[in-house]
Amino acid sequence: MSDPVLTLEGIAKTYNAGLPSEVQVLRGVDLSVAPGEVVALVAPSGAGKSTLLHIAGLLDTPDTGTVTLAGQNLTGQSDRRRTLARRADVGFIYQFHHLLPEFSALENIVLPQLSNGTSKPAAAERALMLLDKVGVAPRAAHRPAELSGGEQQRVAFCRALANAPRLLLADEPTGNLDPGTSDQVFDALMALVRDTGLSALIATHNLDLAARMDRTLRLDAGRLTAP
Ligand code: ADP
Repeated sequence: MSDPVLTLEGIAKTYNAGLPSEVQVLRGVDLSVAPGEVVALVAPSGAGKSTLLHIAGLLDTPDTGTVTLAGQNLTGQSDRRRTLARRADVGFIYQFHHLLPEFSALENIVLPQLSNGTSKPAAAERALMLLDKVGVAPRAAHRPAELSGGEQQRVAFCRALANAPRLLLADEPTGNLDPGTSDQVFDALMALVRDTGLSALIATHNLDLAARMDRTLRLDAGRLTAP
């Protein structure tokens, strides 16, 4: 079997350590995500899903434990190395789309590629290819305000994949949508992930959506368990 895209070992994180408000959020999380594997992370609100996703995506550091991304152990590395690894290998999707309102759908997917050194024509071609995969290519020239909630979120998926990351981290990616739309938009996300061979860790409250992924893990009392 090929090497995991993401490995977490013994991850612990406590907020406000030593204060009366201390919260031990993660108490020894071990996780390995294989290439092309899609893992559901199920937990009630406040259980530490966002903390775990931020640590996995190098946006936050654990108190103890190691994070290995695409074969690189990034524990204790400089902020610069961690930022470079994050830019190269990780795509994020949140509950809210966070698209730039003054730019079109296409431009929102082109801009991160330009920052990464891709030429404008190549970036536009990739953006259109991604929009086409999620069925929003006809809306490429529209600004976010001119798109439906489901379309906005589909564009956000394309933006997360703009620079061809190896790992997708998603925090309730369809949590903001009504149930019918949520289902269709989730299908579009899964098709995109499968089509590009991405690995993904997707937090959701929705057990039906979790069942459509390869494996479900539950975050409970600071540890991951299989349900
Ligand atoms: P989830 O994403 O599962 O809702 P979070 O990871 O956002 O959970 O938060 C887990 C716990 O840690 C919550 O009790 C939250 O209040 C607390 N927490 C999160 N971030 C901080 C912070 N920066 N300082 C103090 N407590 C925090």
